[in-house]
Parts: sequence; structure tokens; C-alpha cells
Amino acid sequence: MARLSDPITILKGIGPTKAKQFAALNIFTLEDLICHFPRGYEDRTKLVPIEKLEPDRPACFKAMVMNTPRTSHIRKGLDITKVQVADCTARLTLTFFNQKFTAEQLQYGKEYIFYGAVSGDFIGYNMTSPVFEALDSAPLTTRRVLPIYPLTAGLSNASVLKAVRQALAICDVPKEIIPEQVRAEYGILPAERAYFAIHEPSSMEEAEMAKKRLIFEEFFVFSAGLALMRASRSLKKITPYENLDLTAFHKALPFTLTGAQSRAIQEIVADLGRGAPMNRLVQGDVGSGKTMVAAAAAYLANQNGQQAAMMAPTEILAEQHFASLSKLLTPLGITVELLTGALTPKQKRLARERIEAGQAQLVVGTHALVSEATVFDNLGLVITDEQHRFGVGQRSALSGKGQDPHVLVMSATPIPRTLALLMYGDLEVSVLDELPPGREPVDTFLVDESYRARINNFIRKHVAEGHQCYVVCPAVEEAEGMDLKSAEAWAETLQQKVFPDLRVSLLHGQMKSAEKEAVMAEFAKGNADVLVATTVIEVGVDVPNATLMVVEDADRFGLSQLHQLRGRVGRGKAKSYCVLFSQKKSGDTFTRLKALCNTTDGFKIAEEDLRLRGPGDFFGARQSGLPVFRVANLSCDLQTLKQAQQASADWIDREGTADTPESVALRSRIATLFARSQGTMN
Ligand code: ADP
Ligand code: MG
Repeated sequence: MARLSDPITILKGIGPTKAKQFAALNIFTLEDLICHFPRGYEDRTKLVPIEKLEPDRPACFKAMVMNTPRTSHIRKGLDITKVQVADCTARLTLTFFNQKFTAEQLQYGKEYIFYGAVSGDFIGYNMTSPVFEALDSAPLTTRRVLPIYPLTAGLSNASVLKAVRQALAICDVPKEIIPEQVRAEYGILPAERAYFAIHEPSSMEEAEMAKKRLIFEEFFVFSAGLALMRASRSLKKITPYENLDLTAFHKALPFTLTGAQSRAIQEIVADLGRGAPMNRLVQGDVGSGKTMVAAAAAYLANQNGQQAAMMAPTEILAEQHFASLSKLLTPLGITVELLTGALTPKQKRLARERIEAGQAQLVVGTHALVSEATVFDNLGLVITDEQHRFGVGQRSALSGKGQDPHVLVMSATPIPRTLALLMYGDLEVSVLDELPPGREPVDTFLVDESYRARINNFIRKHVAEGHQCYVVCPAVEEAEGMDLKSAEAWAETLQQKVFPDLRVSLLHGQMKSAEKEAVMAEFAKGNADVLVATTVIEVGVDVPNATLMVVEDADRFGLSQLHQLRGRVGRGKAKSYCVLFSQKKSGDTFTRLKALCNTTDGFKIAEEDLRLRGPGDFFGARQSGLPVFRVANLSCDLQTLKQAQQASADWIDREGTADTPESVALRSRIATLFARSQGTMN
């Protein structure tokens, strides 16, 4: 018996060349091979009489060879072999191109099973290059449900199939990790059967069942992992905060808190007084005032003799938080420290000394915070802002700097409940569903090119009034065959042709991060009038003086993403506007964009986006922080996800810590998954 960890080269027919091809698919071990699942199936189980074959619909049929195959050499590189076959319903001519050797194996008078599609008119049926097998051969490409694998150059479906078949014959499939009770409850196939059936299903129904099981399994492992993390943390005992009085903090605030902010803070206070580490997500639309909620938590950490750290995804954002938090907290006797990559080595060293000595009480920074060089004296509270930009990995790296610190994460992406569970399944959630008073909603307009001149004037008017504008483009550079506005080219056009007298600057994701920070900082200082950018500006930078957001090719963005972009304006007292350019005048996209003009409720927009596009696209490419699933597809399998989440929660309650064989195997799978996702979830 071979082991799952054995290399695929122990299989017959896999030498160095084949191994390289498999490596291109990330297949190295027998386990990788067994977990290389088909992307679809062809049902070749049913035999159809020739008469009933339909043009262009491939099918299996049994037929007798009526003559000896004859090959004509047409020219160099083109041989055509023709042969007649028939069953009791009709005759058919088979044509093979450059398959002389294969085709000539067909023997006159013998019966075979063929698989192919007829073409041509009904006078002369014809079929090109069908596959065939002798009646007495083992069904490999006919008389079965054929799995269709993801392939790579040089590797045929048949060779993957053969390799998988061998692997399944010589080693055990991955261990069962779903407890029997769960399988029974949700109608889930056992592992052994599922791993066989996904590759060698006896029917399309069985293939479906196998797939369902494997999807369930992926979700189950992931949600059980999160549930375990949550459970283990709530079991931890730490000293509860005793000093939970926020009177002085409230007095120092330049405004009264919104009801939603007060509720969130109360929930935090309850967490901190409980005696187990807090794990809370504060979710609120852009501008809902999350920073002050974090400030309250930091204040309490300080009142209880502990340090707090707040990590932001960009330097400029860290600097803004540093500025607003020092203004608020310094008068309350809290020393706030900034630690980012932009500091000089000496500044960094000094900052780190103060952090280690405990002189810095609240540290605001970028991922420089998680660098090894940063050592805290007594870190009791870890805050991450704009959480979706960080992976679980970085979050826990920062937590590792303290001893079971309280964790507070803040996200401006309104996430529907199901997905929140998936991304933040280990967290409790507070929702800020209210904006501070006096905030005027951003007016949003959907326009087409015929408005171009008017919008240019609108930009000019805003600048003339001393305000600033964003112009967001879907692409960085011009690309051939793509009719999209690119930030680079558009910035140049605006500066040279449209607004030669204004200060136009450019910001995109391919710039070095120091460069990006510099451009953003200049804009924040008011040293540019129009900032042409890609979606890199999406993350929470606060430039209250920016009052106009123009989005080019708005149909290229998701609703939630547009909503995030729109949140960059309307942050000050002045009335703000968002203009969406799109040439679409009807259809789904038009309806979506119209919906955005009519509502400013981030949660409603998120639900709508999820409904329309599915969660795969929901967060836009890449930045999702979602794990990579092998079989599961978030757009189609939400129902299974919910079931798996429920099942894993029940499992934890029932036997999460027990040592049944399934639980042991499951815990080891979880460990592997989470180790792997540290890289991919960032
Ligand atoms: P976000 O939730 O997007 O992080 P911020 O915390 O940056 O929002 O707050 C946005 C702006 O609103 C800031 O300028 C902040 O000072 C202000 N703000 C926050 N809470 C209130 C409030 N309760 N009343 C008035 N203004 C507030
Ligand atoms: Mg913020």
C-alpha cells in the first residue's frame, strides 16, 4: 500500500516529463492527485441507436464495422481514414484525420462502442474522429460517466484519468473527517465513497453526491476551524478589566456619540469586563465613526494598565489615525506613538524603545507593528482597521505580541451575515448602522458621454470653490483591445487638454508604496485639485475637503466597491457628489447602477450585490481575504455553506474536544488549512 504523501512518480507511466506536467497543476503527491477533482462530467453511460443520434450532440452507440478502414494520403501531414459502421437502425461513415494507426485497428465484422457527434445532413450521416473501445475492454472512455479534468499543456484527460485510477487503487483516500452523525443528518456520502465516486462515478447522480460531499467537507473544515478558535479563546481565562468608567472619555469627545457608537462601545465594555479575551468585529459604513469606538477601547486598556496597538493597512491611514487619536487621547494622559515603515531607522528605533519600555501606551502603525523588532511591554488590546485588507495570519501575528490580548477589528465593508461568518466566523459582531448627525448623503448621478462637458465644468466649479475631486478609472494602463479609461492616460489627458490650469495628480496600485503614500499625503494636504486614481483609494483615507467623486466606466465595478469609493467623499460639512459614467442605458448593469443612485445604505447594497453577482465577485478581485476553496464555489454553494456552518457549530458543542477518529483527523486537517491560508489569505 502506498501513502498519500508518496510522490506521483511511483505510478506507472509517470516519469520526469509527465511529473513536470503534473507539477504545473500543483500535483506532486498521490494526495494532490486524488484531490485533483474533475471540473465536469460527460454522461457516456447511455447507448443510443445510430438513427437517434442528433447532430453535434456527442453520444455513445454500439455498431459493427462494415468494411476494412481505408486511409488516403492527401498531402504531407494529412491522412484521412474512412470506415463504414452500422447497427440495425442505420449506417454511418466515420472519418479520422491523421489517426491512421488508431483507426486501422477497427476490424471488419467486429462490434465496438463508439462515442462521438454526428454532423452533416440527413442524406449522408458522418462522424469525425469518434473514440471507440472493443466490447470486451474495460470501459475507460465509453459506457461510463467520464470525468473531465482541468488540464495543462501536454497532459491529456486520459493520462490524468489513468494516473488517478492507479492512485486510488494503491492508496487509501484521505481520512474521514465528518462525524457519522453529521453525515446522516445532512445526507453526506462517507469519505471513501466520495473520493472514489468523484473520479469514477457510476452515474451523474453519484457524481453530484460526491461533489456535494466534498464541498461540504471544505466548508466544514474551514468553519470548524473558526469555531475551534472561537471556542478555545472563550475558554481562556484572563484578568477582567475592572476600571470601565468612560466619563472622562465622553467629556473629551468633541461631539456626542451616535446611538450605534454607544451600543458598540457598551458591547466592548461588556467583553472587556468578562475575563476572557474579546474578539469583536465592528462593522460600519464609511464615515460611521469606527475610529472613536476603537478609541474608547484603547482608553479602557490604558485605564487598566495595558498597552493598545492599532494596525492600519496604509501609512497615510495610520498617520491620520495617529493624528486624530493623539488629539483626543493625549489630553487624557495617554501617550500615543506612531510606528510606520516611513519613519527613519532612528525614529523607528526610538519608537520601539518607548513601546518596549511601556512609555508608549497606544501604538498606531502599519504592518511595521508585527515586525519582529517590535516588542511590547504589556499589550492588552489589538485593533485592526479595514480588516479585509489583512489576512487571518497578520491579525494573529499582531495578537501574538501580547498574551491573549483583546482583539477588535474594524471593517467598512458591509458584509451579509453568511459571508461575515465565513470571513470572521471567529468573531462577535457589532454593527454601526447610523451616521453621525448633520452628515448630508452624497448625491449620486448616472451619466453617459453626452454629459462629459458638463461634468468637466462641474469639476472646475468644485475646484474653484476650494474643494478637491477624485476621478477613478478601472485600469492602470491603456491595454490593446480594451476600451477602458486608464488612470495613466486619463490623468495625462486631463492635465494636458482639459484642466491645464489645475493640479492633476495620479495614483495607482503599480506605484511603489512610498510613492503612493506621497501622492496621497499631498492630496490630503490640499496640494492637488484632481486625483486620478484606480481603486487603491478605496481604503479609508479621510480627505474631508474632497467633495466630488467621478467614476469612469462605472459598469466595470461591483456595487459594494462603488459604494466604498463613494464613501471617500461626503466626509466634511460641504455637500458632496458622486458621478458614475457608463454607456449602459438598459439591462442588469444599468439597473444596478441606478440602485446605487437611489440608496446609501451599505448593507442593502451589499445584499443586492451578493444577489446579483454572487460572493466570488463580491469583494472585487483578490482583496477578499477569503480562503481558496478547491471544489466549493461561493457563488453557487451558499446553501451548503450554511449547513456546514451549522454542522460545525453543533460538532464543537458535542464532541469538538473528544478524541474520536474523525475529530482527530479533522483537527489535523484544520491545522494544515490554516497554516496554508496564512499565505493565501493576505
Ligand atoms: P469610519 O467609520 O469610516 O472609520 P471615522 O471614524 O473616520 O469613520 O469617522 C468619520 C468622521 O466622522 C471623522 O471625522 C470623525 O471625527 C467624525 N465623527 C465620528 N463620530 C462622530 C459623531 N458621533 N458625531 C460627529 N462626528 C463624528
Ligand atoms: Mg476608518
